[in-house]
Amino acid sequence: MAEAAKYDIAIIGSGPGGYVAAIRAGQLGQKTVVIERDDKLGGTCLHVGCIPTKALLFDAEVYDQFKNSKEYGIECKEFSVDWAAVQARKTKIVTKLSKGIEFLFKKNKVDWIRGVGRLAGPGKISVTDAKGTVSEVTAKNIILATGSEAKMLPSLEADAKAILTNKEILDLKEVPKSMIIIGAGAVGVEFASIYHRFGCEVTVLEMLPHAVPLEDEEISIELEKAFRKQGIPVHTQARVEKATKTPKGVTVAVTHADGKSQTYEAETLLVAVGRAPNTQGIGLERTRVKLDRGFVKTNPAMQTDEPGVYAIGDIVAGSPLLAHVGEMEGIVAVTHAAGQAAEPINYNQIPNCTYTEPEVASVGLTEKKAREAGYKVKVGKFPFSANSKANILGAREGFVKIVSEERYGEILGVHMIGPRVTEMIAEAVVVMRLEGTVDDLAHTIHPHPTLTEAVLEAAEGAHGMSIHI
Ligand code: NAD
Repeated sequence: MAEAAKYDIAIIGSGPGGYVAAIRAGQLGQKTVVIERDDKLGGTCLHVGCIPTKALLFDAEVYDQFKNSKEYGIECKEFSVDWAAVQARKTKIVTKLSKGIEFLFKKNKVDWIRGVGRLAGPGKISVTDAKGTVSEVTAKNIILATGSEAKMLPSLEADAKAILTNKEILDLKEVPKSMIIIGAGAVGVEFASIYHRFGCEVTVLEMLPHAVPLEDEEISIELEKAFRKQGIPVHTQARVEKATKTPKGVTVAVTHADGKSQTYEAETLLVAVGRAPNTQGIGLERTRVKLDRGFVKTNPAMQTDEPGVYAIGDIVAGSPLLAHVGEMEGIVAVTHAAGQAAEPINYNQIPNCTYTEPEVASVGLTEKKAREAGYKVKVGKFPFSANSKANILGAREGFVKIVSEERYGEILGVHMIGPRVTEMIAEAVVVMRLEGTVDDLAHTIHPHPTLTEAVLEAAEGAHGMSIHI
């Protein structure tokens, strides 16, 4: 075994949780190393998650603009999709950003080692490289940031042709003629939005009563309505009985809410039924780390029950599987490990963004959850159809909904569906962080004409005083 290298902080995994933690650790003067099993830095988000999907979604949006160009007074008779070029652009973006992390590691004096990291005793990690050679890294503090993998349905296996997860679907050589998507969470609906717009016949199957089931019910209903209008059937309360590979693709047998059975056929199947944490095979069994259904339990400083071991990102119990949450958990962990005061995450103030057409974004309590929590609720709502900028953009679908408590008007949750709302939600997060009220929002001058005025008018709507409806 090679001689142990000594660090202040060693991080296993270079996804957004791990790499952001490493850069911040470097900034705090900690001697830091990242251990990554892949040959590239960036993890799921950069290579098979957020970034490549949003690149494809943007291309789908551009293609949509061409299709609808007549609406803007522009004649565009001949245009087509060069799928290989679309894929190449996506890869170029990913590669550039991955190289960017390498640069930032150098800038902040962060080392990285390629290999599989495993806890090997207090302050020790064994690293196995691609050739099977084992070396050891020692560190005062270790951060586990190993992420998650897509779940598969029992008896199915992804094959990169007919049966796909979020990984394989990114490398399709051509746009399939048809696709069944099981699961209408973020992965399912985003890929529905991509492939439908590129001409694939998409069918979405969801076992719960609504698509994007964690969102406010009115938002879910609006997205389902928009999808159906676009020609994407969304079957909710659909119980998948069996999915089978066939010579032509796949068949999926489903029982619907009314008890009727139906078999769907398609060239491809995307399984988007959630993710499982990567907590196996990383040496947890020899530690005091406690698990909850495979996820690691932590305290607000992201410490596990094993002294000197922190956990961040998708593997953390009770934490949503979102890149931006992993990043902040990484910052909390290294700040604490460096002996500085670390502000714990407020899990009630995490923005959720789904990059469909139309986009969905939210923060805080849904109306139903707020009522269940015992609040007397006041709702303000404003439709994009009455917003001038939305009309200019030709994107009139959707609305902003603000859930506030009646007495002081404190904002409990903000829910949006419509154009560019994933860019607009940050304002709501800030106002909630500052314990702001609907009056604070309503008295904040928003520039005109912008989509953000819909937020101001939804706040006025809590008092029945929106100007433009
Ligand atoms: P998810 O848990 O968000 O959604 C899975 C959906 O599949 C749920 O609605 C569930 O009810 C449904 N489902 C499960 N089993 C089913 C079955 N047998 N038949 C029909 N429906 C079934 O998971 P995901 O969409 O795979 O995403 C994984 C994680 O990654 C999530 O935590 C998600 O938030 C995150 N993610 C976020 C973004 C984003 O922020 N834009 C994008 C992609 C993924």
